[in-house]
Amino acid sequence: MLSAERIMQRCEALARHSELPGGLTRVFLSPESRAAGEAVLGWMREAGMQAKLDAMGNAVGRYEGERAGLPCLMLGSHLDTVRDAGRYDGMLGVVSAIECVDFLNRKNKRLPFAVEVVGFGDEEGVRFGTTLLGSRAVAGTLDPAVLKTKDGKGISIEQALRDFGLDPDELIKVKRKKGDLLAYAELHIEQGPVLEAEGLALGVVTAINGFSRLRVTLTGTAGHAGTVPMRLRRDALAAAAECVLAVERTAQADPELVGTVGRIEAKPGAINVIPGAVEFTVDVRAPRDELREKAVASVIDAIEAIARARALTTKIENLQSSGVAACAPWLMAQMDRAVAAAGLKVRRLPSGAGHDGMAIQAIADIAMLFVRCKGGVSHNPAEAISQDDAGVGARALLHFIEGFHAVSA
Ligand SMILES: [Zn+2]
Repeated sequence: MLSAERIMQRCEALARHSELPGGLTRVFLSPESRAAGEAVLGWMREAGMQAKLDAMGNAVGRYEGERAGLPCLMLGSHLDTVRDAGRYDGMLGVVSAIECVDFLNRKNKRLPFAVEVVGFGDEEGVRFGTTLLGSRAVAGTLDPAVLKTKDGKGISIEQALRDFGLDPDELIKVKRKKGDLLAYAELHIEQGPVLEAEGLALGVVTAINGFSRLRVTLTGTAGHAGTVPMRLRRDALAAAAECVLAVERTAQADPELVGTVGRIEAKPGAINVIPGAVEFTVDVRAPRDELREKAVASVIDAIEAIARARALTTKIENLQSSGVAACAPWLMAQMDRAVAAAGLKVRRLPSGAGHDGMAIQAIADIAMLFVRCKGGVSHNPAEAISQDDAGVGARALLHFIEGFHAVSA
């Protein structure tokens, strides 16, 4: 039997490997990440897998199929966390996948493919500010120049790997070839409120949304808050307020769009000074690239029009953008059947947050299964799921594995 209780206990056990007592912070290549990785490798071995850390610090377990050396269905998620994190984001996917393999192993069941479980060492990118290091190494899309990236203490990724006892020269062996993976599937908490609002425990992910990030600077004229008449002002913050509402309005125009101004700074920032300059960020996400690109273009148009009307100058920089990582229709169909086999209504939904599948997609088709979380909260100690949902999630994942058949491209 799959044990939901053991899944919860293992998430609990991993949460104890933390930099902060009383909270959970576990960054890439830290002593805590070693301890968590060792625990996971131990559970993988108990579940009948061959398990080791790869040269990027990913915990990798392999359960052979009917014969040794067959291509694999890869299951995984990440073992690193944000600062002051919850205990399920990432870990639940790794622990649930191990639970499924343990079930197969106890039944002595071998499949016509191997099953690999990966606990990626870095997804969140907290330590080095660069995300998906673990899965990008597996996909072979990690630019070697990235290894020079330094953390807050001036330690490069390359050095941190060496300090951890890993050999950066071996990274090339972490990379998988295209045919090695039949598919990649990840179970993850939803990190949003949709499933809870609809009273559903599980959701089948259609795509990991693409995102665009902008930095906008509006420049007007600073002046005395008492002496400059209203009609002579060039107030950058009043203009920015209009821009924030324009971002909101643009995103509200389509239910698939989300748009956020998450950071704003007015300069000089004094109670008695008219703000002469304002810098703010814009984050736009959507499950379709052309929808997102159109939204970004209309946000830029709106900002420029607002600035023109107020005689301000604008500087708009593209900070980062990423296209949609669509889940493969053939895998979604198999995941739908697995959810139905677990006795649940099938609900498809996009993922608003980024995941390792974005990187793995370079070498294999991807699928994701979402598990409802309380209040849609994640990246926070209040992150919570019910044991029942953990159980039903693992059951659907097991149905997916047992029913999996590769569709040749
Ligand atoms: Zn995650």
